Amino acid sequence: ENKYDVVIIGGGPIGIACALEAEKKGLSYIVLEKGCLVNSLFHYPTNMTFFSTSEKLELDNIPFISNNPKPGKREALEYYRRIATTNDINIHLFEKVTNIKSAADNVHNIITSKNEYQAENVIVATGFYDIPNYLGVKGEELPKVSHYYNDPHYYATQKTIVVGASNSAVDAALEIYRKGGDVTMIVRKPEIGDRVKYWVRPDIINRIEEGSIKAYFNSSLREIKENEVILDTPNGEEIIENDFTLLLTGYRPNFGFLQDLGIKLSEDGKKIPLYNENTMETNVPGIFLAGVICGGVETHKWFIENSRIHAKIIINHLDKKQDILTS
Ligand code: FAD
Repeated sequence: ENKYDVVIIGGGPIGIACALEAEKKGLSYIVLEKGCLVNSLFHYPTNMTFFSTSEKLELDNIPFISNNPKPGKREALEYYRRIATTNDINIHLFEKVTNIKSAADNVHNIITSKNEYQAENVIVATGFYDIPNYLGVKGEELPKVSHYYNDPHYYATQKTIVVGASNSAVDAALEIYRKGGDVTMIVRKPEIGDRVKYWVRPDIINRIEEGSIKAYFNSSLREIKENEVILDTPNGEEIIENDFTLLLTGYRPNFGFLQDLGIKLSEDGKKIPLYNENTMETNVPGIFLAGVICGGVETHKWFIENSRIHAKIIINHLDKKQDILTS
C-alpha cells in the first residue's frame, strides 16, 4: 500500500525537517530523494564552510556539535545523516519524482522513476542546486567547462578562469589560487558582489589588487575554446589562454517541475511560486512548498537557517486539518 498522509519530495535538510515533524505528529509519510541523502550538500565543494554557525543549521533543536565557529561540509553530512538514521526517517534514495497527477478527490498520485504513491498532501522541498544558470556561450559544453566546483587540487598549475563574483565564485578563486592555480576572474559587474561573506570580501579584493588573482570587471565571456577564451572587456575583445573554465554564476529551481504541478509563478521576472505564508500551501490544494524552493530565482533569500521553520508551519497545519476531520 503506497498511500501516505504526506509525501515529501527532496531529502535535503528541509525535507528531513518535514519528516521529523510528521513523525512527531504521527502522520504517515515518505521522503523521496532523487540522489543520495542531502544530495545538494553532498555536491558542495569539498572544503566549503557554512556561513551559518552550527546551531542555526540544527533541525528540531537536535544539537549540532562542531569545534569550528562555522561547520564544514563533512560535519554537516555527518549531522544530517545521523538525524536521518537515528530517527529512522522513512526515505527512499535514488528515486526521482517525475510527475504528480491530481485527481478530483484531492488525492495526488506521485509518480517516480521506480514507483507510484498516493497522498492528500505533498511537500515540495526540492531546493535549487540541480540546474545551473547556463550562460549560453559557445563552447559551454566543452569537457574543460564546469558549472560546479569541487576541489582546488585539480586546478594546481592550471590556467583557470572563474566566471562570477558571488560567494561560490570567490571561494573557488581563492582556494584554487592558494593551491597553485593561475586564476583569472571574469566579472560582469564593476566589483566583487556585495553579498560575499564579509570576512572573505577583503581577502579577494586584496588578492586582486596585489595581482595574485587576475580579474576582468565589466566583462563577459564571449566564447570558450579548447585552449583559450574570448572575452568582451571595456577595452574591447581579449583572448586569453585557458585550461579550465568554471562558470559559477548560480543555480535555479526547476521551474518546469513546479509549473507541471500547476503551481503559479510570479510574472515580475522573479518567478516566485505562489503560496500562502501562513500554511505554505500553494495555489494547488494539498501541495506545499518548503525550503529554498520558495524564493524563485532569488535563491539567496531562503536558506537552512530561515527556512527550517517551514517544516513546523506545514505539519502543524496538516495536524490541525486532521484534528478537524476526525473530531
Ligand atoms: P536542498 O538541500 O537543495 O535539497 C533539495 C533536495 O531535493 C536535493 O537533495 C535534491 O536532490 C532533491 N530533489 C530535487 N528534485 C527532486 C525530484 N524531482 N525528486 C526527488 N528529489 C529531488 N544555508 C544556510 O542556512 N547556511 C549556510 O551557511 C549555507 N551555506 C551554503 C553554501 C553553499 C555553497 C550553498 C550552495 C548553499 C548554502 N546554503 C546555506 C544554502 C543551503 O544549502 C540551502 O538553503 C539548503 O540546502 C536548502 O535545503 P533544502 O532542503 O531546501 O534544499
